[in-house]
Amino acid sequence: MTSTPVHAARRELAGFNGELIGPDDSAYHEARTVYNAMIDRRPALVARCADADAVARVIGFARSHALPLAVRGGGHHGAGLGTVDGGVVADLSPLKDIHVDPEARTVRVGGGCVWGEVDRATHAHGLATPSGIISTTGVGGIATGGGLGHLTRTCGLTIDNLLEADVVLADGSRVRANADDNRDLFWAIRGGGGNFGVVTSFLFRLHDVSTVIAGPTFWPVETSADVLAAYRDFLPRAPRELNGFFLHGTVPPAPPFPEDIQLRKIAGVVWCHTGDDPEAAAREMAPLLDALPTPLLHAPSAMPHPDMQAMFDGLYPPGHQWYWRADFVDTIPDDAV
Ligand SMILES: Cc1cc2nc3c(=O)[nH]c(=O)nc-3n(C[C@H](O)[C@H](O)[C@H](O)COP(=O)(O)OP(=O)(O)OC[C@H]3O[C@@H](n4cnc5c(N)ncnc54)[C@H](O)[C@@H]3O)c2cc1C
Repeated sequence: MTSTPVHAARRELAGFNGELIGPDDSAYHEARTVYNAMIDRRPALVARCADADAVARVIGFARSHALPLAVRGGGHHGAGLGTVDGGVVADLSPLKDIHVDPEARTVRVGGGCVWGEVDRATHAHGLATPSGIISTTGVGGIATGGGLGHLTRTCGLTIDNLLEADVVLADGSRVRANADDNRDLFWAIRGGGGNFGVVTSFLFRLHDVSTVIAGPTFWPVETSADVLAAYRDFLPRAPRELNGFFLHGTVPPAPPFPEDIQLRKIAGVVWCHTGDDPEAAAREMAPLLDALPTPLLHAPSAMPHPDMQAMFDGLYPPGHQWYWRADFVDTIPDDAV
């Protein structure tokens, strides 16, 4: 029988802490699948790593066999960076430890966690750290890439709140990077993505965020230019505890959206006010609402922070075929729409 990477891995990685999955295994299809169904790659080996030593051994195995290596956190990356044709996937999903220290106001998070898991653990202490807007996204990709979400105006990006990381380097060595030790590496992983090593554990700063006032305001899509211009003028002056992101979209055809606006094309703002006082939130949103026609829907309400974080999960389920494009603009011109 020809020796394949998975056979070689089973021979060479005796006592491996995790799972070694190859194309002939029943778990293979599920193990090779990532969030975006446009990505249909077939790795030679998916190695589910249950500790940092397993990560180091998989890196060494891929190097010694000259196989390309992909590192997977939550597997959400739109272009599928968490998988690779014919190579080795170091799947960090078993690294799920979460430890909240309410006194120090920090949370230590395994490199394979997704944000919903972290949000629920910190919420039990009335605390949170910023992430993205989908709770199934991996901590690994966001915490090494940037992390822009509902808490950004109040608490900064995810990388602004990263205090420390345990990293396995390409030569298999394990280091801790923070403001005092391995400072260059600490700088590089806060935005450099997965290019500098595999983070097996992250330490984040926590903030007093528990109940938030959150939800959407929708206007007819025909008013987009006015909504965008008013939003552009309003948000930079709004208090930092109020976040609102602009969207164009179609109202989902299901409750809780009123039937008469379901499937309408809209321009909208999705709010998240990090204080728990609905009246304060309403006061802070008022200048934008006053500057525009009566909306089709204005529905911010009080909810636990993890519920806000999961609000869009149903609209962005894994397994759909997604094609995204993005661009940067310095400002929103008056005739943007
Ligand atoms: C529907 C959707 C919504 C999104 N919304 C937001 C948003 O609101 N805000 C935002 O900032 N981003 C958002 N993103 C982008 C998302 O943050 C990135 O795609 C991110 O890289 C996903 O992280 P992941 O761990 O799930 O991805 P993966 O596909 O597992 O990995 C992505 C990259 O990160 C690397 N990586 C992952 N884990 C580690 C680790 N532990 N150590 C080292 N490298 C690692 C991988 O090697 C790969 O290069 C969104 C993406 C999607 C698909």
